Amino acid sequence: MIKIRAFGGYSKIGKSMTAIDVDGDIVLMDMGADIEKLVDFEDEKNYISLTDTDALIDNSVIPNDRAFFEENGKRVKAIVLTHGHLDHVWAIPFLASKYKCPIIATPFTIKVVEKLTKDVRKHDLRLITLNTGTKYKLSNNVTLELIHITHSIPNCAMAALHTKYGAILYANDWKLDETPTIGNKPNYERMENLAKSGVHTLILDSTNVDQEGYTFSESVVRTMLEDVIKKTLDNKTIFITTFSSHIARIKNIIEISRKLNRQTLIFGRSMAMYIKAAIDTKIIEKSKFPEVATRREQINNILKYVKDRPGKYVIICTGHQGEKGSFLDKLVTGQYDYKLSSEDAIIFSSRVIPTPLNTANRSMLQSAMEELNVNVADNVHVSGHAAKNDYKLLLNLLKPKHFIPSHGGMDKISAAIEVGKELGYELNRSSHILLDGQEIDLE
Ligand SMILES: [Zn+2]
Repeated sequence: MIKIRAFGGYSKIGKSMTAIDVDGDIVLMDMGADIEKLVDFEDEKNYISLTDTDALIDNSVIPNDRAFFEENGKRVKAIVLTHGHLDHVWAIPFLASKYKCPIIATPFTIKVVEKLTKDVRKHDLRLITLNTGTKYKLSNNVTLELIHITHSIPNCAMAALHTKYGAILYANDWKLDETPTIGNKPNYERMENLAKSGVHTLILDSTNVDQEGYTFSESVVRTMLEDVIKKTLDNKTIFITTFSSHIARIKNIIEISRKLNRQTLIFGRSMAMYIKAAIDTKIIEKSKFPEVATRREQINNILKYVKDRPGKYVIICTGHQGEKGSFLDKLVTGQYDYKLSSEDAIIFSSRVIPTPLNTANRSMLQSAMEELNVNVADNVHVSGHAAKNDYKLLLNLLKPKHFIPSHGGMDKISAAIEVGKELGYELNRSSHILLDGQEIDLE
């Protein structure tokens, strides 16, 4: 019997965690934070309380696994992480150690977890690096395999649990990028083989399933960025804000800037963490990346230097959602010794994740930028999540007996169920709605 229990990441995006029980052996997939709640929590409490697991659970920042652990903790064979986004891994330092089992992920994801663990608190976690394309026996009932897939962070994997019922696949998150700018395209060949030997269940990130067409490749954004940077007048200083974990995007900005005879600088603590993880795992070359500046004094000194040399620099920084305390927020609100003006350009290589907090922060940032007459380019970005046609492609390729949409709430899940219907999946027989806190039995 297969039981799937959703802790988080189904009713809304964030706090991803799923338990897959195969004849009594349990594998936990992902252990993330609700990023919106985390930001609220950080605003309200001081940093010390960020190490209080109970407070984090009670404030819904991380999944509530208390009752589950009491009842089933000893049966958990492994915690498997699919990629290094914080909504998939941030809770590891708080929840993982009590399970006394290995934490398994690809090299980049393991590095991110090591850095998070070091930042927050120390634990004797058993971290195991597993490359995509290799298998790891978890018990007599379950063998794990990680399969390469593309997303918006390096080393993303789809997890496959091989069981006597067939493979159980967990694809959170993913897109199909035929021309990624770091790493390979998805391993379609392996997916085809899995379909041939039988996929029992597919749990599938459905964040963008309600968007028509295909999600464009990262190489498209590279062209968009080159176009925008070229059009920005020679005498302007360019600030580009993007996702810290989007190593391919950051690498592309550096390469384009070099081509256009501009030097790059990188500011921000989260940028430093992800870039270090990418250097440590040889995804990027250290010599081709500038040192990331994180300290206020250091940043102020660099900014003074930049101010005297207009048109020479591209600065990659944090703050694309207008987050309070990010570099961009501080820059725009005059907290650095650098006065923004019409001589500066700010490029958002991102999209606003439409939470009430982000929307409010970005609108405040927008007004402040307008007042300063800064040149702004927004949405120079493509998503890391699959649109409807990609979604159909993957379902057709893997042909699971059962599929369960995850991520994005009821409207996205309903859209996914509709797409499934077009492909012959029937609700409650072969397609299933699973919400946070619910459990489902599949035969
Ligand atoms: Zn993700």
